[in-house]
Amino acid sequence: MTFAPVQPVFRWWCLWLFLLGLTACTRTSAPEAYVVTGPPATRGEAQPPCLHAQLPGRQRVLLSPPAGGWSGAPQAVVVMNAFRGEVKIRHGARERCGVLQDARTLDSRFLSGMGTVLVPDKGNQRPIEVEFEPSPMPLWRPLVRLGEPASVQRQDTLRFALRVASVAVMLALVVSALLTFMSTRERAFLSYALGASLFALWMALLSGLWAYPRPWFALGELSLRLVGALPAVLSALTVRMLAYHAAPRALAGRVRRGADWLALCGLGLAAMIVLVPEHWLAVASLGSELGFYLLCLAMAGMALVTMWRGEPGGATALTCVAPFLGVGLMEVAMPERLASWKVEAMLLSGCWLALTASMALTLRLGSLRRQRDEMRVLAQTDALTGLPNRRAALEQLSAISVSARRSGQPAAVGFLDIDHFKDINDVHGHEVGDQVLRAFARILRSTFRGADYVARMGGEEFLVVLPGASPEQAKARIESLSPLLATIGHTLRLPELRVTLSAGVTGVEADDVEIGPLLQRADAAMYAAKRAGRERVVLSGQPQG
Ligand code: GH3
Ligand code: MG
Ligand code: MG
Repeated sequence: MTFAPVQPVFRWWCLWLFLLGLTACTRTSAPEAYVVTGPPATRGEAQPPCLHAQLPGRQRVLLSPPAGGWSGAPQAVVVMNAFRGEVKIRHGARERCGVLQDARTLDSRFLSGMGTVLVPDKGNQRPIEVEFEPSPMPLWRPLVRLGEPASVQRQDTLRFALRVASVAVMLALVVSALLTFMSTRERAFLSYALGASLFALWMALLSGLWAYPRPWFALGELSLRLVGALPAVLSALTVRMLAYHAAPRALAGRVRRGADWLALCGLGLAAMIVLVPEHWLAVASLGSELGFYLLCLAMAGMALVTMWRGEPGGATALTCVAPFLGVGLMEVAMPERLASWKVEAMLLSGCWLALTASMALTLRLGSLRRQRDEMRVLAQTDALTGLPNRRAALEQLSAISVSARRSGQPAAVGFLDIDHFKDINDVHGHEVGDQVLRAFARILRSTFRGADYVARMGGEEFLVVLPGASPEQAKARIESLSPLLATIGHTLRLPELRVTLSAGVTGVEADDVEIGPLLQRADAAMYAAKRAGRERVVLSGQPQG
């Protein structure tokens, strides 16, 4: 490796850094005061000038005082969900402007919208004016909240906490999916991480977190377009994932093809929302959101069919979309009530979807791994006798031989072959031949236990590997099988059936780097036993008379 010459230097560096850190930590002279950083403030909070107040086409809301005029108490006003342009709050000569996409322009007492506190004189009849750019997306209108400052701020903080928590959960899921991808190399986790990253981006834009502490990138008009377009991409990904995960088996092909087409449509719609002229934006965004609710409904229907048929995946898919169905239902039945908490409802539903999808993905990965393990076991097991097959035997023999040579402990290998097995087949039939093989395997399994290893090498040939045994001990143990083999005929109710074996035994030697020569010695000894008249065990290298 090319790292070799670097390593000692690197180790010295680590040691030096460690000692430096230790010295810094154990310095006896403790600092007299905590370190204070940052210069003191020299001016009050900068109020950005109102730039767009005179622009035509802006929306104006008047917050009228109660009968008898304002009470003289401070009034908090917050405007949320103004996804573009400047928001202005004005009462008399006092006015405050800010842009939700840039936290530096906002009153820092309000975290989830552009807010301010005004103190209209007692009995004053003039309404508070709120001005913002109208939303081109019909289902995402700006929200204005008026009330007592403490209660408005408490609610504002709760909203902010929910928004931060949702984005944090989503980012944690992205990191976790990426780590899982790096350790498993399962592409599904990479796709998931990509989808969850887009979700996190949408959440950050929708919740205004993109603006803190300053805009991460100044997206301008694109920010509004992305708030409309990303749900179309996310719907496409969600529907595709659910269709692949939870489609009823009988309809799986058609549902998946349909989902692929829908996913393409979703991507097309998203591109349209980003690119179309302003007057088309309303239709495109309305279509995207209503389409999403309808797709959730369709997915819930599909999940119910899957559950009804007792197939897997249905319950997870239903759990994934259930919160969005609730939001969709409220959008239809009570849009006014939904409006005030719609952002939070969408963020929490998104988190729920991502969490359940992540869980489903992990479970699916687990079941795929179990299947793979089962396949691996099957690939290494002989179907007739249940013993390890030739492939497994060669792997195990290699491992035992390496460990015996390393430890210097003896190990013996025996190659066993049933005598005149062809005759057993010919006389009693192939089925009886199979039964003899199964009975033979049972006897081997019950005789050689613990660290001993038994396998069927093919046909009527078997291998035994005995770690810790010398060739002589192995010979004696194989010879001890004879009385047990004599019971097979009795067990199969064929008293005239006689089962005997010939075997060759050898020991693992210091120069057995490969298992080929080891097997050849055992095999040659077995053939020597055949030549010598069968029904015997021959040690490799032992002269036969
Ligand atoms: P020898 O004593 O020299 O070993 O003679 P043999 O008849 O045992 O050896 P031979 O290699 O001539 O015949 C092995 C027979 O084993 C031939 C084959 O049909 C049979 N055989 C191989 N696999 C199976 C099996 O899975 N089931 C059954 N019933 N017979 C099998
Ligand atoms: Mg044979
Ligand atoms: Mg044979």
